[in-house]
Amino acid sequence: MKEQYDVVVAGGGPAGVAAAVSAARCGADTLLVEKAGYLGGMATDAHIPAFCTFTDGKALEVGGVGLEILQAMQARMWRSPFYDAKPGRDFAYDWVPIDTEILKAVLDALVQQSGCTLALHTTLAEVCREGRAVTALRLATPAGMCTVRAAQFIDCTGNALLAHGAGAECLCGDENGRVQAATLCFQIANFDTQCFLAYAKETGENGNLSKASACAIADGKFPAGETQVAGIALITPGTATLNFGHVFDFDPFTSEGMTRAELEARRALPELMAFLQEYVPGAENAVLIGSGPSIGIRESRRIAADYMLCRADYDRRADFDDAIGYYSYPIDLHAARQAEGAMSGHGDYESSRYAPGERYGIPYRSLIVRDLDNVLAAGRIIGADRAAQASVRVMPACFLTGQAAGTAAALCAKAHTDLRKLNIEQLKQTLKDAGAILQ
Ligand SMILES: Cc1cc2nc3c(=O)[nH]c(=O)nc-3n(C[C@H](O)[C@H](O)[C@H](O)COP(=O)(O)OP(=O)(O)OC[C@H]3O[C@@H](n4cnc5c(N)ncnc54)[C@H](O)[C@@H]3O)c2cc1C
Repeated sequence: MKEQYDVVVAGGGPAGVAAAVSAARCGADTLLVEKAGYLGGMATDAHIPAFCTFTDGKALEVGGVGLEILQAMQARMWRSPFYDAKPGRDFAYDWVPIDTEILKAVLDALVQQSGCTLALHTTLAEVCREGRAVTALRLATPAGMCTVRAAQFIDCTGNALLAHGAGAECLCGDENGRVQAATLCFQIANFDTQCFLAYAKETGENGNLSKASACAIADGKFPAGETQVAGIALITPGTATLNFGHVFDFDPFTSEGMTRAELEARRALPELMAFLQEYVPGAENAVLIGSGPSIGIRESRRIAADYMLCRADYDRRADFDDAIGYYSYPIDLHAARQAEGAMSGHGDYESSRYAPGERYGIPYRSLIVRDLDNVLAAGRIIGADRAAQASVRVMPACFLTGQAAGTAAALCAKAHTDLRKLNIEQLKQTLKDAGAILQ
């Protein structure tokens, strides 16, 4: 690692990988800093079962680096014959299951080929600021503390740690600061895939295991506090990943809060397994082979940006002169408190759903940290109200905002220009040239 870069990206999740690869491909000397020993963020660190939608129900809406990653992973992984064929989904692009080991390898190769410097096991610990500019980051590395400087910084930490550490205003959760429940996703093996497929074909079982859940609920045996399975994906013959279970009312910003969340989630796993073994044909002899590694966090801080994407924008399918991409995933808000019912937001999920082909724009201004001059944000922390965040937080959109932030930061660093003076048409054209979809 050197002391000076054009662009430093903090956080190597979907947003950070797309940002770093895009910045490097645009010719910027780029450093990507990730505290884990692998890339992928929630996708690999929290075992999220599948990528949400890359299409708007009619056509692809997320291209560029995100699509490249999706297709590189698909090319190497088992193609699950189980598909939750709800309306408007395209088998090739929507809800594609994630094989975490293949994804890790795909991301390693992509980042290395881009020419970006990768620093794994390296944690952003402190942010140095002068006036409205971040000047340096203090990083905790296996060799001790070090300092890196750059012209532009991109916060892809999922928690807005860079912006918050620089003293920029951030928002969090609902009016009481409560965030959506967290989930410890987990993998099972010794799963009789053929038996499950036969059952799904016969009964029309879906990716939420709605039929099995209804039987357990009728028997009074559904896991306490839960109302539905958020999702199952078949990863290889004999294995599956579950997005199931919620930890409510926890504090994502303290050791105590995160410790309680991890312990509570792990404690619930035997009950979740018992439900699967009793009610899901094929899972009778299934064993739990892995959770996490970390609990999945849906929501924490989001930045105060130059423009806050909001529910009204979502509802009116807003377009913006500075739109750097378009998305259409519904407002997917899991409850913050158990009393609300775990999937209470799912009323909104259905009612907010767009007709095929409809999209909302994501403005470049929503990536600019309002209180700073050289920091962009990407991923689930961009400037948005809670409802808009509940759509834009999913991974295809994180790739999209990451690619835009990386490209913008590289263009600014190369031209020695301010983020707010960037020629938007040049940004859009550069994104289009790199495969992004901008209409
Ligand atoms: C339970 C759950 C289920 C979900 N289901 C889906 C789904 O089915 N499909 C879908 O598309 N999306 C889903 N999502 C949403 C999606 O996974 C996340 O919103 C998305 O991963 C956010 O991407 P990101 O890059 O902004 O942040 P993250 O994925 O959180 O990545 C942030 C990265 O920053 C790193 N980092 C954090 N702090 C530091 C630091 N101080 N120094 C260095 N590195 C740091 C982290 O280790 C991590 O790698 C789900 C989320 C959860 C929690």
